[in-house]
Amino acid sequence: ATPTSIMVGTGRGAQLGVLIKSGEALEHAGRLTALVFDKTGTLTVGSPRLTDVVPVSGSAPFDEPALVRLAASLEALSEHPLAEAVAAGATERGLAPWQVQDFLAVPGKGVRGSVVTDDGAQRAVAIGNAAFMAAENVAGHDAQPVTARADALAEQGRTPLYMAVDGRMAALLGVADPLKPEAPAVVRRLRGMGVRVVMLTGDNRRTALAVARQAGIDDVRAEVLPDQKEQAISALQAEGHVVGMVGDGINDAPALARAHVGIAMGTGIDVAVEAGDIVLLRGGLDGVLTALALSRATVRNIR
Ligand code: ADP
Ligand code: MG
Repeated sequence: ATPTSIMVGTGRGAQLGVLIKSGEALEHAGRLTALVFDKTGTLTVGSPRLTDVVPVSGSAPFDEPALVRLAASLEALSEHPLAEAVAAGATERGLAPWQVQDFLAVPGKGVRGSVVTDDGAQRAVAIGNAAFMAAENVAGHDAQPVTARADALAEQGRTPLYMAVDGRMAALLGVADPLKPEAPAVVRRLRGMGVRVVMLTGDNRRTALAVARQAGIDDVRAEVLPDQKEQAISALQAEGHVVGMVGDGINDAPALARAHVGIAMGTGIDVAVEAGDIVLLRGGLDGVLTALALSRATVRNIR
């Protein structure tokens, strides 16, 4: 690698909103054979909205607004994008959160806590995916009507959140996070460049497949726990791939660090910007193409 070609490459990148932190990052990016995308906040816009509130048989005595209020009280304490959607949904409906005690967030699964309602009663509330409901021993979470409704939400690319009150399944919440408009074109270009494109997410498999279909991605690794994302990168490396990972740092900072090239969305959280070898300073995914094109040109020059 000639220092001059690397300086030219990184300088050009900076002008285009692509911060390349090292010559090594540039060289790896120029030889990339597989690129893994996190879903939430990377392929999708990352500002999900609460679109569905579906009470189920265990919801009594709570009506829809009360269910949203219970959910939002807990989610107000979580930083997850899904949690922000639920909290915003309550604000839009003019519902103020109740107090919460014993809050616990389980990464990649959900949240639980004790919500103190107006009458002073405490309600044990848990919100998360099906695996979290199973772990919390929630009665009725796997009843056929619940599963069917959750699957229907997922087929639309929405994330179904299961909500339990006092140990019984009470509601399903649907959260929609639209694909970034440029995602399909970026994926098509990458494949045209001979890069294998993979989607990695902790989200529900059906939801992930629906979103991947919209993006044109056929290699989907879903329901991956935060600590397994890094292993998914290692597995591709073991197959001989030079692996890039694009993420926003929420649950994927170790995977960004593990990849040959971690590409952080500059719109993500600070830890991603730190863990990334390349930082996309503008929100769009087009920066990935810019980074690859520059790197390839540089690598060609130094060969
Ligand atoms: P992603 O890979 O899409 O960024 P995560 O690993 O962060 O997803 O989360 C995986 C799944 O865990 C979510 O799709 C959701 O079902 C559940 N989950 C995680 N955090 C929360 C939360 N605060 N509230 C509800 N569900 C959550
Ligand atoms: Mg994420």
